[in-house]
Amino acid sequence: MTDSSRDATAAGGSAADPMRCPRCEREGVAPLGSAPFPNELGQRIAAEICVECWEAWKHHQMLLINHYGLNLQDANARTFLITNLKSFLFAEGPAGATIDTSKEGRVSW
Ligand SMILES: [Zn+2]
Repeated sequence: MTDSSRDATAAGGSAADPMRCPRCEREGVAPLGSAPFPNELGQRIAAEICVECWEAWKHHQMLLINHYGLNLQDANARTFLITNLKSFLFAEGPAGATIDTSKEGRVSW
C-alpha cells in the first residue's frame, strides 16, 4: 500500500484514477474512462487521454471530415482518421493532415 497521497486531491468523484495526459501534459487529470472504439486503441484512449483532449479531437475530426469530405463508410477514410487521431492525441506515426483554409481547392483527394 503506497496510497499516502490519495486523499489529498481525490475529490473529483470519477471512478478513474487521475493520470498524466500525454497530449495536454497536465498532471492529475481524469482519463476519458470509456473506450470510444471497441479495440486496443479505444482502450488506450480510455485509459490515457483526458476528457478535454478527447473533446478537442472530436472537434478536429469533424473539421477533417468536413474539410476532406470524408465518407466514413469508406475504409480509407477511417484509416485516414485513425492516423490523424494517433498523431493528434499521441504524437505518433506520420504527422496529421493540416487544415489550411488558404489551400482550399488545392486538396486533390
Ligand atoms: Zn489532455
